[in-house]
Amino acid sequence: MPDQVKVPFVSFLPMEHELDQDLRAAFERVYTASWYIEGKEDAAFEKAFAEYCGVNYCIGCGNGLDALTLILKASGIGAGDEVILPANTFIATALAVSYAGATPVLADPDPATFNIDPAKIEEKITPATKAILPVHLYGQPADMDPICEIAQRHGLQVFEDAAQAQGARYKGRRVGTLGAAAGFSFYPGKNLGALGDAGCVVTNDAALAQKIRELGNYGSDRKYHHIYMGQNSRLDELQAAFLSAKLPHLDRMNAERRRVAELYRRGMHNPLVQLPAEAPGCEHVYHIFAVRCESRDALAAHLAARGIGSNMHYPIPVHLQPAYEGLHLSAGSMPEAEKISRTQLSLPLYYGMTDAQIQAVIEAVNSFDG
Ligand SMILES: *Cc1c(COP(=O)(O)O)cnc(C)c1O
Repeated sequence: MPDQVKVPFVSFLPMEHELDQDLRAAFERVYTASWYIEGKEDAAFEKAFAEYCGVNYCIGCGNGLDALTLILKASGIGAGDEVILPANTFIATALAVSYAGATPVLADPDPATFNIDPAKIEEKITPATKAILPVHLYGQPADMDPICEIAQRHGLQVFEDAAQAQGARYKGRRVGTLGAAAGFSFYPGKNLGALGDAGCVVTNDAALAQKIRELGNYGSDRKYHHIYMGQNSRLDELQAAFLSAKLPHLDRMNAERRRVAELYRRGMHNPLVQLPAEAPGCEHVYHIFAVRCESRDALAAHLAARGIGSNMHYPIPVHLQPAYEGLHLSAGSMPEAEKISRTQLSLPLYYGMTDAQIQAVIEAVNSFDG
């Protein structure tokens, strides 16, 4: 038998090998400067990422969950308020609303795109609704125009959870520019990842930017002056330096992800496996290549037997997690999200996959017979 080509679900090694010298230089620069919080590296990355997104302000913070929480708190959302978000998302989207003191209200996703279905938003609006928080899930922008139109009609704010979609475009516009503010995560596995936890908020609103910066720095406007009961969530110098080393490569690395997705799309022909759809006007950056299969667990086992990793995003929807029992949403209440949780499988897709690995994934998917 020929040697099996192994394909992990994800590997950072090809990217890290390529950027090895830059990443080591970033470490050396910070270590030599011996300055670790609130310094030149943070300021430089914030400026570069704001320019990349095409917004006026970027505020570094500790992680993506904090980014979303800070946006909501700084926007005055809190106890008694409701925020509408998709039922199919990572739990952080809902937790951000809860941490702000408000109530997450889930809307069932569109099974074709996995993103929030604009047609299911309006029925969730109540007098307590303050905002809509769409997620650009798996790297594909949510359908923002109808979402913003609904928000405008009802006097609601729109914020983006862009944690999975750095660099993606909607009708030519970068995510991060499509609402009042956007939260990004730089968790290592995201398309732009730090070497640890990190995140940021981007916005064009100067007052909001300032309040977010203060809230994330102990509520202080000047050292030892505290105008809010803030939190500690800052982007540290080391992570900022690593992110600055990686950012110039993001578009190229996203293009490579799109190329792999295109090869998958052209090569995979298995009626049992439904490939992800690209919505019109959306430039998907394939944080995750999500397929659907009625016998999902058998497909995962079939791939594993061939040395191919896979993953589920996410096996249990937010409303069926014990943490969110309090929402009193029983099984069956979010049928599309629940169906996705039973049938979705994430295939390996990362920067630096070899042709042999890409072919191995395609062949393994094609040879699955249920
Ligand atoms: C990763 C992620 C977050 C949270 O980011 P962290 O940096 O892990 O806190 C929020 N929302 C979505 C959709 C994510 O994928």
